[in-house]
Amino acid sequence: MGAMSLICKKLYPKCNQVFVGPCITKKNEAAEIGGIDLAITFKELSEYFDKNPIDIKTVHKKSFNKFYNDYTKIYPVSGGLSDTLHHEKVLDGNQILVMDGIANLMPVFNEFKDGFYKDYLFLDCLSCNGGCIAGPGINNTLDLESRRKKVLAYKNFAMNNEKDLERRGMVHDADGIDFKRIF
Ligand code: SF4
Repeated sequence: MGAMSLICKKLYPKCNQVFVGPCITKKNEAAEIGGIDLAITFKELSEYFDKNPIDIKTVHKKSFNKFYNDYTKIYPVSGGLSDTLHHEKVLDGNQILVMDGIANLMPVFNEFKDGFYKDYLFLDCLSCNGGCIAGPGINNTLDLESRRKKVLAYKNFAMNNEKDLERRGMVHDADGIDFKRIF
């Protein structure tokens, strides 16, 4: 989210930025990065509309504009990041660790310090079981598999229906942006 925010700031400097998603840690990230005007969860958005109901008949429906590649819309699913990484010229598949769920991750992370798993050069690890589709800010009772299918269906829908701004996530889009983070 932080990286996307910095890119949006460069491409659309006059726009306000609102992040709506499944993740409560994005609030911290938004505060750290700056430039994001509001970061809320799906649950919070739903609560807002409960308190401030709108007449759906008065809403003018529009699809999202897209300015990145549709295939990356599988990011919220565990393994989605590495599936869209174009790593073939840099990494073998067996150098990428895909894992989700804190209970699964912690034993592995603990063993990194002892020198195990040193063959992994890229970690595609997500704290929530199944990935962001099971984030704590999601207002949904579907099982994980149904959520995964919905994400894939949305990706296909977007490919055919969202307005294409002809941006393809090229490296030059990020020219001049400082992505460095210190932890
Ligand atoms: S896996 Fe969970 S904690 Fe990690 S970014 Fe996704 S929603 Fe947030």
